[in-house]
Amino acid sequence: MYNSTRCETITATAKHAILKGLADDGGLFVMPNLEEIKINVEDFVNLDYNEIAKLIFSKLLDDFSAEEIDECIKGAYTNTFDNSELAPVKKVGNIFVLELYHGPTSAFKDVALTMLPQLMSKSLANAGKKALILTATSGDTGKAAMNGFADVDSTGICVYYPHNGVSAVQHMQMATQKGNNVDVFAVKGNFDDAQRGVKQLFVDEELNDYAKSKGVELSSANSINIGRLMPQIIYYFSSYATLVKNGDIKAGDKVIYSVPTGNFGDVLAGYYAHLMGLPVDKFIVASNKNDVLDEFIKTGTYDANREFYKTISPSMDILVSSNLERLLYYATDRNTEKVAGWMQELKENGEYTIDGVTKEAITNLFLSGSTNEEATKQTIANVYKETGYVLDTHSAVSYAVAKEYADAGKTVITLSTASPYKFPQAVMSALGEDIDDEWEALSRLQSINKDACPAALACLKDAEILHNKVIAKEEMRDTVRAAIDKLANL
Ligand SMILES: *Cc1c(COP(=O)(O)O)cnc(C)c1O
Repeated sequence: MYNSTRCETITATAKHAILKGLADDGGLFVMPNLEEIKINVEDFVNLDYNEIAKLIFSKLLDDFSAEEIDECIKGAYTNTFDNSELAPVKKVGNIFVLELYHGPTSAFKDVALTMLPQLMSKSLANAGKKALILTATSGDTGKAAMNGFADVDSTGICVYYPHNGVSAVQHMQMATQKGNNVDVFAVKGNFDDAQRGVKQLFVDEELNDYAKSKGVELSSANSINIGRLMPQIIYYFSSYATLVKNGDIKAGDKVIYSVPTGNFGDVLAGYYAHLMGLPVDKFIVASNKNDVLDEFIKTGTYDANREFYKTISPSMDILVSSNLERLLYYATDRNTEKVAGWMQELKENGEYTIDGVTKEAITNLFLSGSTNEEATKQTIANVYKETGYVLDTHSAVSYAVAKEYADAGKTVITLSTASPYKFPQAVMSALGEDIDDEWEALSRLQSINKDACPAALACLKDAEILHNKVIAKEEMRDTVRAAIDKLANL
């Protein structure tokens, strides 16, 4: 059973939580007894990725049958990733890089967004309803979600991204997405504006009533949806198992995970893995110049009243990290009242400060760091020079922050969340070549990188543009109404 982070009496089954996305009080769904699920090292180190997925899902998706879970895993991961291994680990310098970008849209979000539509269609199967997915994106989620949901029965999807806030490659990926049930809009404003807009739509009673009258449920593909989080837990276990299999660590050894962080979904999935028994020394929350999380972990004050920077790692350009709320829930030992209070303060004043006990609970496990643009670029250049490996702009943030711990002799796994081919201009600039045209930068990157460009990105430049609408925040509601009508008639 799941309940809201803000009220324990607002409950849902896994299927219900996946369909709803967000709880009725605006809180996020959490499993109160997560720590009671104990997965021992010997239970998973000899399993392959899909077997680990089956093990984890059987614990977390309590109202899914074993057969449904099998079907979901097959549906999501059969022939969708271009590597024989879904989440390979490579040693780059003295850091292990967990490559999560071998899916259809070349970002780690594919791991979850190939799975979520499967989970969702199982959840819809008996409900006799349709689901309209509303998603705010800083670039990668949008494409991965559109790709995952395109023409999936009984579903539709509306994506909102910040106008001029994503890379040319990301923009083309979304603008060229096919599917009768997909819509995408550029919103004037930044990612937080888009995300706030979507959150408001979810609690908009009139809009929800309208959707219900048409047999449609509004749902989310953002990492606030538990169906997004769960698939991400698996690669923490699988990467640990890989290191044990390769003899890099012994079963039971603790490792450090460094995670390039935006909305706090990815690192939270690691925390969940740890609560379920994965041996972890520390998690490093790595931020770019938008360092609100780094400051929060160091000071205990979350202060969103600050300048917003557009950086070369746009998927981490976020001031309000939604999933942090779930960490607060566990770190306060499930004190929904406290969590609700802080979230209210955040909404009203843009900031809140946690108490000393909660802060200690967090800093016992979480380290943090941030890099500015120059340091991120320098890391890409240094790693390329020393190893020939090309990091993308997000993975470089986390690599840079992790370096001091690896240099101190710790075993560090850093999550690599995107292919460098998604951000070719910024990557080439880091390597000392400023190239005005992103597509030209992409072909230049192909010529110097020993890892080939994913086919879907290589042919993107000349693909047909199918979506080009730019809207104001105030217009988001109307676009949802139109999408509800469209889905009802599909
Ligand atoms: C989304 C994203 C992140 C941030 O992940 P969160 O779960 O939002 O913290 C980092 N890197 C890339 C490439 C992403 O797409």
